[in-house]
Amino acid sequence: MKTPVCPRVMLVEALRDGRLGPQESASMERHVPTCAACSAAARELDVIGDAVRAPQPPATPLEHQRARLALLRRATEPAPARAPSWTPRAVLVAAAMALAAVLGWTGARMMGPATAPIALHMRPPPRLAPARETTLRPSDDARFERTRTAGLEVVTLSNGTLDLTVRPLGPGERFVVRTVDAEV
Ligand SMILES: [Zn+2]
Repeated sequence: MKTPVCPRVMLVEALRDGRLGPQESASMERHVPTCAACSAAARELDVIGDAVRAPQPPATPLEHQRARLALLRRATEPAPARAPSWTPRAVLVAAAMALAAVLGWTGARMMGPATAPIALHMRPPPRLAPARETTLRPSDDARFERTRTAGLEVVTLSNGTLDLTVRPLGPGERFVVRTVDAEV
């Protein structure tokens, strides 16, 4: 099936060049975004406009005419012909290759020896985030006292050892560890 050629495609360039009257201009402004042929022509004119603005020797009237004919020919081509390299068959082959790659990967994961390193790799990393809560792990012979008042927490250790993890303190908060001869 062929895409119908829009009779107004010739007016796209005229619109660009300001050769249309106000009413016709407004009408084309509304038409172009709704028309595949005309919007394709407008896009092509953008490309040509960029090329013209680039420092190049000016096109001869013949070159200009040829470019315009090529533009019109492309603008009126049926849509699928614009992407000849992506035929449905090529897309199918690409999809099959992608699927094979996925299956190959999953297959490797399910086979014994390959599973171990992947599993090792997938293991969550050790927790490095700051502790959310203060924890105390006293030794068997530890004797200590823990007191909390507003903004101040004091652990007084009188014997043994204490493994402490202190949560991040808010502004104005203090955490003090006292031993017989030291205060931290
Ligand atoms: Zn049109």
